Amino acid sequence: MENQTAQVEKINPFKIEEVYSKEITLRPGKTVQARKWKVKDRKNLKKLIEERGEDISPIQLASVLIFPCLKNKDILLTEEEIKFLLSEIRAISISDKFKFSYICSNEDCNKLNEQEILVQDVNKSKFNNWGVAEIDGIEVEFGEIVNSKFYYEKMYEFKDPSERNLADMAMHIVRVNDFEASIKFEQFMTYFNEMDTDLLDQIVQEYKKQKFMQDNEHECECTFCGTKQKFIFDEIPDFFPKSWFE
Ligand SMILES: [Zn+2]
Repeated sequence: MENQTAQVEKINPFKIEEVYSKEITLRPGKTVQARKWKVKDRKNLKKLIEERGEDISPIQLASVLIFPCLKNKDILLTEEEIKFLLSEIRAISISDKFKFSYICSNEDCNKLNEQEILVQDVNKSKFNNWGVAEIDGIEVEFGEIVNSKFYYEKMYEFKDPSERNLADMAMHIVRVNDFEASIKFEQFMTYFNEMDTDLLDQIVQEYKKQKFMQDNEHECECTFCGTKQKFIFDEIPDFFPKSWFE
């Protein structure tokens, strides 16, 4: 046998490398490559919290914790997609699971469950292909947003979440009947505001069927009696570990 000397490749600790190790699909044709959080990202988060306190919008959070971690930094992300990606990047950077405690709802049991849940079980996505919806004789066609600069400007402008949702929907409308929507945003917001509430709510429902939505419902099973209970995880408990802020 030949005596082989293993070639040890020395790593240069000062070479800055971006390794986008995780591929995340948001919908067919919309995929991102993400890297783990670095110390500089954590510093930027602390700075943002110092500056703004609790008043941090999803897009501001994304500017420090998502966009710097993506290979394609110009991609347009909606609030739902931002929330989804935050949990995905948390899964690769901190842990892909978290601890969750609850009391079993079965009265004969009522025991304390302390379980470990996988992030992927509470961070699922729902969407359909973009298309035309017919509501009360009105044809509404939804589609992907092309002008990301305009989108983010509007998302900053509207502080109220329900106004932001409306603006988000307006910008995803390609056409209503024969009316091309993309260039006439302000007119569109007026059109919605003048609409009967029940009609607007129906359009919102149709939009929700097509848009990217985060699905955070998860069923837990009691370790003692097997009773199943559904929980909605709007936020992952201890999303950032305490050590991040020490
Ligand atoms: Zn039980």
